[in-house]
Amino acid sequence: MATRESCLVCQIVGNQIPSKKVYEDELVMAVLDVNGANPGHCFIMPKKHYPIIEQVPDIEIGRLFQVSNKISSAIFESLGAQGTNIFVANGIPAGQTVAHFTINVIPRKENDGINLQWQPKQLSEEEMSTVELKLKEQTKNIGHFEKGEKKARVRAPKPVILSEEEEEYFAKQMRRLP
Ligand SMILES: [Zn+2]
Repeated sequence: MATRESCLVCQIVGNQIPSKKVYEDELVMAVLDVNGANPGHCFIMPKKHYPIIEQVPDIEIGRLFQVSNKISSAIFESLGAQGTNIFVANGIPAGQTVAHFTINVIPRKENDGINLQWQPKQLSEEEMSTVELKLKEQTKNIGHFEKGEKKARVRAPKPVILSEEEEEYFAKQMRRLP
């Protein structure tokens, strides 16, 4: 697994790799994707190294999606896009290729040849109910959102290399994804 040092996204944030930066604040940065699906394809990332979305503190998740929304608006205004896709590839089976959480904003036009479609799977009523129950059991715990920036988490000196605990956490998160 990539360490902070070898992480491509961290190197973009640290300007060790040149990038076309379109937005930056104290928490997040947005750059043009050099291998973008369409001209104007941006990715928005936290400046701190979090491999997957579950590790990103609420305040930063909030900022990341706020900025993604504004970047999407900027794409409509400046590039004449007719739509945007805003998506996250979370985990290797979901298509994540770099171990640093990012949000993609892709400008879309009719008949631009980008295919993000899938074949619907028909579930039986019973299968659907089972899934619903399992999910509801977990979503009961949603709602205790972190109000402010966690100073300790943000300021604590961190080793450059992921700790064993973090590696293990990441591996576990990956395994539980389908
Ligand atoms: Zn990183």
